[in-house]
This record gives sequence, structure tokens and C-alpha cells, in this order.
Amino acid sequence: MTQDAQPPRDPDAPVFDGPPLSLEEELAAARAEPEPGPDIDTVNAELADGINRCPKCGSTDVQLRASTGMLVCLFCRHQWQEDRVEEEFGLGVGIEELDGTVIAGGAGTIAADVADQVTLTCGGCGAEVVVDTAHAMNARCHWCRHTLNINQQTPNGAVPDAVLPFRLTHAEAVERIREFASKRRLFAHPRFKKEFVPENVLGVYLPYLVIDARAETTYVGKGEVQTRRWTEKSGDNTVTYYAADVYQVQRSVGLTVDDLTIEGAADRRDFDGSTTNNIINTILPFDTKNAVKWNSSYLVGFTSEKRDLDVDDLHPVMEEQLLSIGRSQVEGSLGQFDRGVRWEAEQVDVGGSRWVSMYLPVWLYSYYQENTQTLHYIAVNARTGETMGSVPVSQWRLITAALTVGTFLEGIAGAILVATA
Ligand SMILES: [Zn+2]
Ligand SMILES: [Zn+2]
Repeated sequence: MTQDAQPPRDPDAPVFDGPPLSLEEELAAARAEPEPGPDIDTVNAELADGINRCPKCGSTDVQLRASTGMLVCLFCRHQWQEDRVEEEFGLGVGIEELDGTVIAGGAGTIAADVADQVTLTCGGCGAEVVVDTAHAMNARCHWCRHTLNINQQTPNGAVPDAVLPFRLTHAEAVERIREFASKRRLFAHPRFKKEFVPENVLGVYLPYLVIDARAETTYVGKGEVQTRRWTEKSGDNTVTYYAADVYQVQRSVGLTVDDLTIEGAADRRDFDGSTTNNIINTILPFDTKNAVKWNSSYLVGFTSEKRDLDVDDLHPVMEEQLLSIGRSQVEGSLGQFDRGVRWEAEQVDVGGSRWVSMYLPVWLYSYYQENTQTLHYIAVNARTGETMGSVPVSQWRLITAALTVGTFLEGIAGAILVATA
């Protein structure tokens, strides 16, 4: 049995890091909203007319070829790609100098009550064509078959600044999903196995905000250094006692983060752990450095989900993540406290941050389990192939498996009894 004993507090005990902070003051200062910085204009000016033409032959039959990650003209087979936003908008530089909140055009505040439907006038024949931006960014004119594209930023949050194109093909994604499901085959629901059809594996672009930030985080707490350890008899037990000096500990760390990636849709941001919501987080990270300038041709043949969270909504999520990064960075400086440090208060002061909205590519297979009314997902990171998901489990099979194990053990016990009789 072990029992901790607090030593009498030694008034002369050295304090490692100066007097305690007046945390209220510091927190108030940190809570003051950072000044807005200059915004980044990310509109792809070459696509202003809503018709994405092949630069070689002018055809509008353009789509992504996932095997190369490039756009391909279905008419003349010319392949090309948009420039990386990293260089185009200078996102890779100047994180140390960030000041205030810099927001790119596609990450701006979503106007309340704006419709998802955007009506475009076809440049080919003048017909009105409706695009439902909640799920798609293109529509084909049913009169002249021109593909019309949403290229301008819309007030409903549907057009991001950048897109990371699909890289894994549909066939490759199906292969990953099969592999994932077969590893869990023993317990998988028979209907799940039977009903798996590759056609139901769908490519979807999910909305994220990608953040660069400069911050200072501070942690205040108590650290203990053991000075003595002894045991005493207490009846039949031996009780171990410790004596430790308790120190007021404070650590501050200045840090920069490059491409912190946070969900931009509310239904997947909630980390409740009990549902399939957080599956998408387990297939992070994405190579966001390779994201390219917005061009809706990258979305032809894929669905997309609209962003519905603003920078203001996600600022606290960013602060949480910065605090967590800082905490792990100060960890290495706490070695002298052999009985550990308990943080009692922490704060983050964000000097500057830069927000860019981005569509990231995911292959999804969903399965609705009727008896439990649960929606299961298998998700594949369409850049790295990282796969995660939940597979519906057959209760009946679990019971059978338990019975089999039980019977097997009884069999062994029986054998031992026979041997020792
Ligand atoms: Zn062409
Ligand atoms: Zn038309």
C-alpha cells in the first residue's frame, strides 16, 4: 500500500520561476481580440466568367485525373494544373511576422440566410443553370452541355481559397476499404459484407480551415521534488511516505505553427468519441502544402460539403490546439520535478494568425445499420491512403465467438482433470 504525505510547506523553499503571475490580468490581455490584419484575395481571376476552358483547345469538358492529380481535357487530352497556393499567396512565409487575424477571401464570415442554390447564366446559350453548392460546384447546361462552374467566392461559404486534389483513384480507394473491412471480417455484420458495392464509395471534398499562427503560451502550476521517502509499519501493512518540496512553476514558450488543420463543418467538429464523427480526424494529416488555387474543375465528378463555421467559431479550437502544442514543448524543461508538475492555469496569447479555407479529398463508404440505426463510415485519405472507419458488428457472431472460447477452455480443464485423476 502506498500513501502520499504532504510535507509541511517550507516558507524558505526556493521558487524556480519568480513570483506567481497575476493571471487575471494576463488573461484579460490575452482575451482582447487581435487586430484584424490585411485580407488575402484568393479569387482565381482567370476563371471569372464561370466557364473553365482547356487552355489548349478551349473545350469545357475538363475534370481531374486522380492518377496524376492534374486536370485533363476530355477533348484533346491536354493535362495541366493550377499553381500551389503556398507560393501563389505567400502562405509558406512570414509566420514569425504575422500580426492580427489575416483571413483569406474564401475563409470570410458566412452571411446568414443565404441560399445554397446559385443560378448561373450559361455563356454558351444563355440558359439559366442552377448549382446546388451544398453538394456540387459544377452543373452541366442541359441545352448546350457546357459545364458551368462556381469560380467566384460566394457569401455562403461554399467556395474555398484552395483545393487539394484527389490523388487516390476510385479503384485504389475501394481496395483500401476492402482491406480495412476484411481485417475486421470475423465479426462484421453479414449484411455489411454482402451489401458492399464499390459504386457506393464516393469521393467528397470536405471543408477545412488551414491556419498559420504565432503565439505565446504560458503555464502556471505546482511542481514537486521528492526530498525523502520512508516506510512505516501499520498493522500488517507497510506504508510508504514521501516528503517533497513544492514549487511554484511557470513556463512560457513562443511558438509558430504551420498549416494547423481544423474542420470547417460543425457536424464533424464535435469530438464526442462515441460516433463516427471523429473518424475523419484519424485520417489526418493531409499534405496541405500541395493545395492549389481554386478551380471548380477539380470537383467535377465529386461531391463537396459546404463550410458552415467561421474564423470566430474556430478561434477557440485553434487556441486549444496551440496550448496543447506548447504544453508538449515545455515538457522537456520539467525534468527536475521528479514527482511531476500539475498545471493549474494556462493561457495563450495569439500574436497573429492566418486563415485559409481549403477543400480536402476523402473517399467515403457509408453503411446504415438499420437495427441499431447507426451510420457507419470507412474513410480513406485520398492523398495518403490512410484508412479508418467503424464496421458494424454482428452481435450474434460475438456471442458465438465467446461461446467457442468458453467451450475450448472447458475442454482444456477437462483434460487436466483427467490427467491428474
Ligand atoms: Zn483541350
Ligand atoms: Zn448552355
